[in-house]
Amino acid sequence: MLQPFNYHQPSSMEEALSLMATLPGPKKVLAGGTDLVPALRRGELSPAHVVSLKQLAEMREIKIKEGRVHIGALVTFSQLAEFRPFRGPHNLLAEAALQVGGPQIRSQGTIGGNIVNASPAGDLLPPLVALEAEVRLCRAGGERVLPLDEFLKGLGRTCIEQEEILTEAVFPVLPGQAASSFVKLGRRNSLAISRISMAAILVPGATGIIEEARLALGAVAPKPVRVPRAEALLKGRRPDPSLLEEAVTAVAETVAATLGDRPSAPYKKVAVRGVAREALIKAAPQFGCKL
Ligand SMILES: Cc1cc2nc3c(=O)[nH]c(=O)nc-3n(C[C@H](O)[C@H](O)[C@H](O)COP(=O)(O)OP(=O)(O)OC[C@H]3O[C@@H](n4cnc5c(N)ncnc54)[C@H](O)[C@@H]3O)c2cc1C
Repeated sequence: MLQPFNYHQPSSMEEALSLMATLPGPKKVLAGGTDLVPALRRGELSPAHVVSLKQLAEMREIKIKEGRVHIGALVTFSQLAEFRPFRGPHNLLAEAALQVGGPQIRSQGTIGGNIVNASPAGDLLPPLVALEAEVRLCRAGGERVLPLDEFLKGLGRTCIEQEEILTEAVFPVLPGQAASSFVKLGRRNSLAISRISMAAILVPGATGIIEEARLALGAVAPKPVRVPRAEALLKGRRPDPSLLEEAVTAVAETVAATLGDRPSAPYKKVAVRGVAREALIKAAPQFGCKL
């Protein structure tokens, strides 16, 4: 049941940070509300204060400056899916955003909420980990910037503090020749919470050899995991069907080691092979297999 709370709607970041610093008792930030409101209704949370970020327009922007992409915490899944510059090397973000929930969730849910909610199945997290994103956390009179991987503590936990607001995710622009993809296997096609997902970034060199590979898996561990063995295996080689199978096997072995004997392990160990194969072929059709 929904417990009463005090609702605040600051009109500037300064005011929001001041409220976060001074309001007594438990408080929660409200962005799109797609996770928070159901949790309040279920009675899982009972904050004394809810601080809405609704009026902070500056956090709704995506900017590319000085070689870095800055995504404001209030940017919605729909905005990410529609942002034209994400149709090139960074399209893994648009692909992930497009696969979230249904149209209503996509138009309300935000990147900041997805990050702070820290679900192992959060769809934007594997792409952001592969992009080596950092998060900016602001408080009255200060801020800190942390690698996302360090910020996420697993299973809904992060190292955000009561008085902090996550203001943006930032990552270096990928080289123009890079290609990326996101593949998710859910229970159902829409409104599916990810059962397993993979983000892939491949940077080819002039001769077609893979110069850099970054792979991140979602929903196989308490937080997204990179796959260093498969990344190393791909580096310095030319994409072809046999390399694809080697990489898929390396991903599957990492997943098997990560999952241990949890109940979903037998399914996920098999399913990840298809997810990894599809993500790699989408990023580099030269892997030479039909989807
Ligand atoms: C029907 C349905 C389907 C869904 N499908 C998917 C899916 O397919 N994939 C997926 O990944 N998710 C899915 N979700 C989950 C949800 O939509 C996302 O996690 C969303 O990104 C949350 O963002 P929000 O803006 O709604 O966050 P809110 O609900 O407003 O907040 C979530 C949490 O983050 C905190 N928070 C939010 N913004 C900030 C900030 N800037 N600074 C500090 N703290 C903050 C809040 O206090 C709260 O604890 C689904 C949810 C529903 C209800």
